[in-house]
Amino acid sequence: AKNSGRNQYCFYHASAGQQNVDELKLEQALREALRLQQLDVYYQPKFTLDSQQLVGLEALVRWQHPQLGVMSPALFIPLAEKLGLISTLGEQVLQRVCLQLTQWHNCTIPVSVNISALQLADSEFVTRLHHIIRLADVPPQRIELELTESCLIPEQAEQTQYQLTQLKALGFKLSIDDFGTGYSSLSYLRRLPIDTLKIDQSFVRDLPDNPGACQIVSAIIAMAKALGLDVIAEGIEHQQQLEFLRQAGCNQGQGYLVSAPRPAQEFAPLFKADITE
Ligand code: C2E
Ligand code: CA
Ligand code: CA
Ligand code: CA
Repeated sequence: AKNSGRNQYCFYHASAGQQNVDELKLEQALREALRLQQLDVYYQPKFTLDSQQLVGLEALVRWQHPQLGVMSPALFIPLAEKLGLISTLGEQVLQRVCLQLTQWHNCTIPVSVNISALQLADSEFVTRLHHIIRLADVPPQRIELELTESCLIPEQAEQTQYQLTQLKALGFKLSIDDFGTGYSSLSYLRRLPIDTLKIDQSFVRDLPDNPGACQIVSAIIAMAKALGLDVIAEGIEHQQQLEFLRQAGCNQGQGYLVSAPRPAQEFAPLFKADITE
């Protein structure tokens, strides 16, 4: 035990130093990428579970690091949040999506954009969002905002409710992402002008063999229905998961089973009118 303790110390020591260097490099690279607007956006289809009809797209940011290759947002989003760059990043993603929508003449389905809790903390958030889509001449109805349940922290309940009400009044669609992983109370949820609950992939992953996951998923679906909300499941990889969800009354989904996130140009044949090319 003594021995392994010493090894562990060496391990942490070495990697902590390494991590600082790497994080500094990463930080500089991320600032540079934002300055040069180099971030890219992929799109993942949302579809109906019965007939696999395309009903929406989710915009997911991608970063091709010059040395490290394609970086996971799970890594650089927290970094952007830590560095105070998340609003800039989020606004660049929204701008990119708006530009895409003006080019996809035939795209009538809504595109959703992920919003970090820290963006909501900015009192100018609603104004800036509205400004971006107005400049791009994109109607708010075409944009859905995915807010994680962590956006709904009780300490900011009043400000959040106010912002969401404004966004809703402007015409944005609102969805609660990763639903089931946070602590939002039913009474709080009921007061928010949201359209959709998105069942977190951690529950979907364990369908249909894990009774706990099955019960949670069924409960979320029932709750969404009781509140008059749409419900969508993310992370569907297997036919059995889709089947369970469908039978439980969930009518929309997203996941590798139907499509992973894909680069924008792959949707061009679907959404671009050939009249004015
Ligand atoms: P999320 O919003 O929950 O997005 C779902 C994640 O699951 C995406 O990972 C997606 O590629 C992945 N995924 C989709 N289908 C499947 C599946 O069938 N199985 C599995 N295992 N995974 C699947 P991605 O693109 O790496 O994004 C990770 C997270 O980064 C997102 O989670 C979101 O929280 C954040 N993110 C991505 N883009 C943005 C953005 O523009 N702004 C903000 N604030 N956050 C973003
Ligand atoms: Ca999302
Ligand atoms: Ca999610
Ligand atoms: Ca997630």
